[in-house]
Amino acid sequence: MENKTFDVVVVGAGPGGCVAAKKCGKAGLRTLLLEKKKLPRDKVCSGMIMGYWAKNLVKDEFGDIPAHVLTGTYRGVTLHTGRNNSITIPAVIPVGWRKNLDYWMCQKATEAGTEVLDAVSINRIVYTEGKYQFDLRKGKDTETVYGRFVIGADGAFSQVRHTFWPDLNIESRAALRECYQGPLKIEKDHFHWFFPRVSPSPRFAVNYKEDHFLIEGGGIKHLRNEIQDIMMSYGLPFEAKPLWRDGCGIASLYNILLDESFLPAKQNVLLVGDAAGLLLPFTQEGIGSALKSGAYAAESVIKALAGIGTAQQYYLGKLREMMRVLKELRTLQLKMAEIAPKGAEALSEAMASFIDKTVNE
Ligand SMILES: Cc1cc2nc3c(=O)[nH]c(=O)nc-3n(C[C@H](O)[C@H](O)[C@H](O)COP(=O)(O)OP(=O)(O)OC[C@H]3O[C@@H](n4cnc5c(N)ncnc54)[C@H](O)[C@@H]3O)c2cc1C
Repeated sequence: MENKTFDVVVVGAGPGGCVAAKKCGKAGLRTLLLEKKKLPRDKVCSGMIMGYWAKNLVKDEFGDIPAHVLTGTYRGVTLHTGRNNSITIPAVIPVGWRKNLDYWMCQKATEAGTEVLDAVSINRIVYTEGKYQFDLRKGKDTETVYGRFVIGADGAFSQVRHTFWPDLNIESRAALRECYQGPLKIEKDHFHWFFPRVSPSPRFAVNYKEDHFLIEGGGIKHLRNEIQDIMMSYGLPFEAKPLWRDGCGIASLYNILLDESFLPAKQNVLLVGDAAGLLLPFTQEGIGSALKSGAYAAESVIKALAGIGTAQQYYLGKLREMMRVLKELRTLQLKMAEIAPKGAEALSEAMASFIDKTVNE
């Protein structure tokens, strides 16, 4: 890397970072995309491209998803509430491993002229002489690069957020995933969500990808016995061991984001996707909001560099519409907790209507 000053440094090669980097690169901005893991990297995620933000933006920004990037298409979401209540919401949901989906998007960013540096750690980020300095380490090598703008797309526990908003109080919980191989007596082309305690949470999901099925969700460690019982009823042997297990953290920023005490843009630093807390309430769908906010962040930087206002102001204005949707879904989510004591049927119907709204509208 000869000249080390970039117009924009994007941190994180998930959907939010890839779309931002691709748009900035395409607009002719000198763009660097930094990723902490070696690419391609997987991510704990069901990998469903659901909701109109995700579906439209993937197509508009990256084109049709090649067949090898997907594992298939789900035809519905089935909710299993308590032991005897099941309801299916018909939907068409492309699905894949995030490793393949995100890498495909990252390659599009590279084709648009973005430089990508993976397996890199950021030792520190400081603002100095009108630009942001990144001290990097890759293996045994160290390097310093500069960016006039920073797009923080580095997920739920964003280092960029922590650097520039050090005092935020973030609630978090763990999500776990176990991958098994083999048959299960369950519809393979549905995404299955189990609410064994007739409550929106804790819950777990079962979904097939190729000949693997995954059991995953936030807080599933509290459901060990229920999961074993339920899975045995679908034919998973008692002694079955997963091929692998992994996990990640889910951060919740709704309270501070929706009351606007936290604004995810400051000077020339813009946060997108999970780093900004834009994961949708209840479904925890975040690919769509990462793509939408990533695209807005890129537009904001492009405009600011063209001398049309500040990136911060433009970005926060664009986020307003997203916030309206988040607020509406958050209200519905809180209502579901009130409906739960009325029983499995009532909760199931409320959740189905919520999911129909998120997936099909
Ligand atoms: C169990 C589970 C299931 C889910 N299922 C779905 C689903 O089916 N559909 C859906 O839409 N959403 C789903 N989500 C949510 C979705 O995974 C996220 O909302 C989405 O990935 C957010 O995208 P992002 O680009 O903001 O961040 P991420 O996809 O998390 O990408 C962030 C990137 O930044 C990198 N990074 C982190 N720190 C640094 C650093 N310091 N320096 C450089 N790089 C860094 C990470 O390695 C990562 O590559 C699910 C989440 C969970 C936990």
